[in-house]
Amino acid sequence: MPPADRPLRKPTPAPALPAASLFQEPGFETGPLPPDERPSILMILAEEVAVCRKCSNLAESRTQTVFADGSPLARLMFVGEAPGADEDRTGIPFVGRAGQLLTDMITKGMGLRRQDVYIANILKCRPPENREPSLEESANCLPYLERQIDIVRPEFLCLLGRVAVQYLLGTSLSMGKLRGKWYRYRGIATIVTYHPAYLLRTPSVKKDAWEDLQLLMNAMGLPVPSRKKSQD
Ligand code: URA
Repeated sequence: MPPADRPLRKPTPAPALPAASLFQEPGFETGPLPPDERPSILMILAEEVAVCRKCSNLAESRTQTVFADGSPLARLMFVGEAPGADEDRTGIPFVGRAGQLLTDMITKGMGLRRQDVYIANILKCRPPENREPSLEESANCLPYLERQIDIVRPEFLCLLGRVAVQYLLGTSLSMGKLRGKWYRYRGIATIVTYHPAYLLRTPSVKKDAWEDLQLLMNAMGLPVPSRKKSQD
């Protein structure tokens, strides 16, 4: 049955995953950075990204690069696809319509503050006309995201949509097949869900995204608000 027609079911609670045991798994060559060093090292990386010209076409067309938003000490990192027009203008990821929905998912849905999670994208430059990132652009930009993940070392990753999933988990299976389960990216507990822009276009799958967030909240030990439990 396609995901939109699937009856709403209660997500299986995932066991809370202790961060320490995740980080001891193979995946990172070095141990985590001391928390107080993370902001300045991210700032150095952001400066490197700001002058990047690996994709000369994107470097020409961008207003500015869009590095990340949120806390270098976040337990949870969201990864999207690429900046759109609003993000290109402001330099902050997920601030347009899709961004407002992501902010609502974080704040109203999960009960977290946006500034306490970390938000980044596969691409740091806006592809003209919001087209999908090319393979070459993604390959050029991915090392920056890998370094961001390495520096922040979140306990949990939430991949937003097909493009983030394709480049971090290396699969092009459909979101309907992939969502609702746990994966590991370099030892980090990783969940995938629909991109907020897709949720805006396809409200019927919002209930699936809410199930995914509940899975994440259970694993993070966050309370699931009771008023949301039966909400579509
Ligand atoms: N969509 C994304 O994937 N990232 C953004 O930053 C904005 C919209």
